[in-house]
Amino acid sequence: MLKYVSTRGEAPAVTASEAILNGIAPDGGLYVPAEWPTLALDWEKLKNQTYQEIATQIFDGFFDDFSVSEIDHIVTKAYGQQWDDTSIVTYHQEANLTYMELFHGPTLAFKDVALQALPHLMTTAAKIQAMTDTMVILTATSGDTGTAAMRGFGDVPQTEIVVFYPEVGVSALQRQQMQSEPASNAHVIAITGNFDDAQQAVKSLLAQSSLVAELHEKNKRFSSANSINIGRLVPQIVYYIHAYAKLVQQGRIAAGEPVNIAVPTGNFGNVLAAFYASQIGLPVRQFIVAANENHVLCDFFNTGRYDRRRDFKVTNAPAMDILVSSNLERLLYFASGRNTTEVKGYMQALAERGYYDLTAQTRQTLQQFVSGFATQAQVTQTIQAVFAETQYLIDPHTAVGRAVLTQQAPTGPTLIAATASPYKFTETVLTALQGEALAGQVGLAALSQYSGTAIPKPVATLFEQPLRHKQVIAPQMMTQTFRQEIL
Ligand SMILES: *Cc1c(COP(=O)(O)O)cnc(C)c1O
Repeated sequence: MLKYVSTRGEAPAVTASEAILNGIAPDGGLYVPAEWPTLALDWEKLKNQTYQEIATQIFDGFFDDFSVSEIDHIVTKAYGQQWDDTSIVTYHQEANLTYMELFHGPTLAFKDVALQALPHLMTTAAKIQAMTDTMVILTATSGDTGTAAMRGFGDVPQTEIVVFYPEVGVSALQRQQMQSEPASNAHVIAITGNFDDAQQAVKSLLAQSSLVAELHEKNKRFSSANSINIGRLVPQIVYYIHAYAKLVQQGRIAAGEPVNIAVPTGNFGNVLAAFYASQIGLPVRQFIVAANENHVLCDFFNTGRYDRRRDFKVTNAPAMDILVSSNLERLLYFASGRNTTEVKGYMQALAERGYYDLTAQTRQTLQQFVSGFATQAQVTQTIQAVFAETQYLIDPHTAVGRAVLTQQAPTGPTLIAATASPYKFTETVLTALQGEALAGQVGLAALSQYSGTAIPKPVATLFEQPLRHKQVIAPQMMTQTFRQEIL
């Protein structure tokens, strides 16, 4: 059976279901597969398969203590009618560049791909482990994770979901999604301050042992919907395999021919999933890691030093505003040759000094990764230019990826992750297109009219929904508020 081990080497190896329930390993590390599952990726076969069929094979490989019928059930639940396209992920071709539209789920961002599956992975894992506690999903969000987590976990038995989001920095549509969330097990609270403040406070909540003990008395326990959970990462491998298979099917590439993959990056989850895909057999030439003005990762790949000692910026691609990209730890694990002592050293240095330097040897293994960043002005210019040239609408995050692709100019066929619908960020997209930051229903209508595209179904009546969650608190009130809501 496939085991998951910690990147820091001081936690017991566990099965997939245990890793999903634990979220983070007890030594503070992240779970990684002890070996790569052998999935004979036969492109001639894969090219004719549905998204669900490919998902089933990937899940079977990585979650091998789940039964075949359990996996079938999870895939059916996760990738069904809630998607506005039966093929789940759709593609837009522009010469050698393929946009992977990952935003056709209920909250219009790629996080739905994983967060429609994670609740079912978790409740099934609980069944396998005979775990009867209620799982309390606590998350800080810059907008996309929280809404996708609530759409996934909403009204799922044996779960409660608590979301803290910054009052400033989310789009009007994200705020409306948050405040109107109807699920009875959802607790949604705005905080004064930015995403980093919310993130720090959530981390300290999760680390309070007295709180963990009190939850335990009530038969509750923390779980993580963050992309540190292996149950979030594996579902994201699927679309890279699916995309490649479609390119083979369309005759755009020969089976085995390498592609480039460009990903607008924040917590490094999405690009890590592409790396995992390459480790199980996806032919990749280069990974293009695209950052915004919070370009700590870009500096890392270009200098070998990770340095978080800088100011946090709220940008027009807010889901990428982040200074500590948690999932990078998983890449370091593989880059160092599974050297847990080395990884632990980096993470300790980051916590204590705020930076670390890669060894020359480890840095050497990362040559497939190239990185650049886009300023906020470049984001709006890119949205404007892409629409002017091709009548294709992209969101600010995808625009970061597109702008960095222009800088890096890799050769050969390239996949780019289109991570959100432009309708989710009408303020920025309309500013780029017509110089006016329209929000709300007015923004949706204006964007539809300007672009000649339809307002996505999941948000067509969003602004008519009643607001249920209006609480705004200071970050220092988060523990107290959490207690009131959950204990
Ligand atoms: C979360 C998010 C990202 C960043 O993805 P990571 O996996 O954290 O790197 C990029 N774009 C959008 C729209 C997102 O919601």
